[in-house]
Amino acid sequence: MRKSRSRQKEVAVQRIAILMETALKTAATDLPLAREQADTAWRISLRFRIRLPYQIRQLFCRGCKKLIVPGLNARVRLVSRNPRGIRITCLDCGRIYRKVIPRVLRSVKRV
Ligand SMILES: [Zn+2]
Repeated sequence: MRKSRSRQKEVAVQRIAILMETALKTAATDLPLAREQADTAWRISLRFRIRLPYQIRQLFCRGCKKLIVPGLNARVRLVSRNPRGIRITCLDCGRIYRKVIPRVLRSVKRV
């Protein structure tokens, strides 16, 4: 019997979570394998039209759609000039993206 669409989606979400967890663990020792796992997770999300949670989404390069792990194949730098934020560089395709730290958070941090 065919599973209902919502049930399929549920399983897909679980699979993505498991795959990403293992991918992050594997990344330090075997990056190509970790990338394959992340790639599978990415394809599942496309297949079932699942929007990945932010924590998982930020692990994918927006340029080459590959897994990026800070300190391994991504460079994270603080930007002190305006607008303040962080700069993430994918060391694979060289794509740089910036995340601006909202003013509200900045004033909270200063206290
Ligand atoms: Zn990239």
